[in-house]
Amino acid sequence: MKIVQIVKERGPITGEQIADILNLTRATLRPDLAILTMSGILEARPRVGYYFNRRSANTLVSRAIAKIRVKDIKSLPVMIRESLSVYDAVVTMFTEDVGSLIVTNEDGYLAGIVSRKDLLKMAIAGGDLQKMPVGMIMTRMPNIITVTQEDTIHIAAQRLLNHQIDALPVVRTYIMPNGDERLEVIGRITKTNIARLFVELGEGGMDHT
Ligand code: ADP
Repeated sequence: MKIVQIVKERGPITGEQIADILNLTRATLRPDLAILTMSGILEARPRVGYYFNRRSANTLVSRAIAKIRVKDIKSLPVMIRESLSVYDAVVTMFTEDVGSLIVTNEDGYLAGIVSRKDLLKMAIAGGDLQKMPVGMIMTRMPNIITVTQEDTIHIAAQRLLNHQIDALPVVRTYIMPNGDERLEVIGRITKTNIARLFVELGEGGMDHT
């Protein structure tokens, strides 16, 4: 990393000059320089020296991102039963400090999702929030956008953006004895998870390269 930093700042630069800066001999550096040029991170031109290959740095970033999976960054799901009231949903959203709630049916499987604006709409409409079940106002299955644990975070981020939503339930498919499929909720991914990962990657804190 030190070599790459030096070449980024001062390239093109010769092997001798890099060795001088690091107080090492040219021979000691030879294997490191060989790896860095073979992997395409640095390029070497005869009689010019080493310089940093920006395109390969981009590929390294995308390769690192492609390896991170939903299971690596998911949060615990925050859920509510569909028979509970809209009022209960507002209270849960405040106590759990989240922007959307995953709604489950009475068997505990994914039924829908309810967001801040869904609840605000009901508040404006002015019904009895204590009597109205959250199942009546949620966005429901099969229109819920989900991810699985093994999906890459790149796919998760694409779904959040493409569908203009803030949260995705992380699900596992459960086949009922009669062959019907149900989705079991095992986590959630929000824009906050993606932002947190972005910060960690920026600080070099998550080792996925
Ligand atoms: P906000 O209400 O703060 O704008 P979202 O952008 O997440 O929050 O939600 C926008 C709409 O999309 C809401 O009606 C919500 O019910 C719905 N929605 C949220 N998440 C999903 C999802 N994963 N799949 C399908 N619909 C969703």
